[in-house]
Amino acid sequence: MGSSILEVTILGSGASVLSPDRVLAGLMIEIAGEPLIFDMGSGVLHRLSCSLPELTRIEHLFISHLHVDHCSDVVALVQSLWLMGYDKTLNIYGPKHLEIMAKAIGESFPYLIGKIKVKPHFIIPGFQTRSKDWTVTAFPVNHGDFEAYGFLIEAEGKRVIYSGDTAPSHELIKAAKGADLLIHECSLPDRLKELAPNHSTPGEVGKVAADAEVKTLVITHLYPELLEELGDALRSIRASFSGKIIVPRDTQIITL
Ligand SMILES: [Zn+2]
Ligand SMILES: [Zn+2]
Repeated sequence: MGSSILEVTILGSGASVLSPDRVLAGLMIEIAGEPLIFDMGSGVLHRLSCSLPELTRIEHLFISHLHVDHCSDVVALVQSLWLMGYDKTLNIYGPKHLEIMAKAIGESFPYLIGKIKVKPHFIIPGFQTRSKDWTVTAFPVNHGDFEAYGFLIEAEGKRVIYSGDTAPSHELIKAAKGADLLIHECSLPDRLKELAPNHSTPGEVGKVAADAEVKTLVITHLYPELLEELGDALRSIRASFSGKIIVPRDTQIITL
């Protein structure tokens, strides 16, 4: 395609306590026309029907961790691809627990077995996969005892970071140094930190973005409490970070 445009679409910016206009975690990065999907929480498949009507173009799906709000639409995706005549191989990248999830899906919905070709790839720290147009590197993040990864996407001379779910993470700051775009979870207001020790608050996200010296910050994984106090949240980020801040709506496209 030769296009030098990298497009990031925020498919879902919400969290498990629901907001009516925000579905759960998911984003798409299109590089030279090729869609890479990161996370597939509830509602993301439907958002894709707006952002990527030709769903059968998907060949790469990266799952940051196996919490339900990041992967529950995977089984629905498999069924939709089958019914749309999918004839490619769906590469699914995720933590080792993916194997157990795949087995459980097969046992629960045996009619789906063999309907499309699925190739699992198990992520370990430092995992990397690439095509001629892009490289994706996984790094471990800080989500309590739960195995979880963030991703560095490098393409078209740009660097994009997706945090998945994490409390402030040194590994992430290292990977994000000087990145063009940091998409970071920002779950709850600073005053509710004790409710979500394994997630990040605005004050923490601001410090991470400042330490990593990224150009633009996108906040996602937004709980209703944070959205109700968005002004305070932005001020708290601003206390440390002077770059551009985006509070996306679902299906918003960010072009790099
Ligand atoms: Zn999680
Ligand atoms: Zn989550």
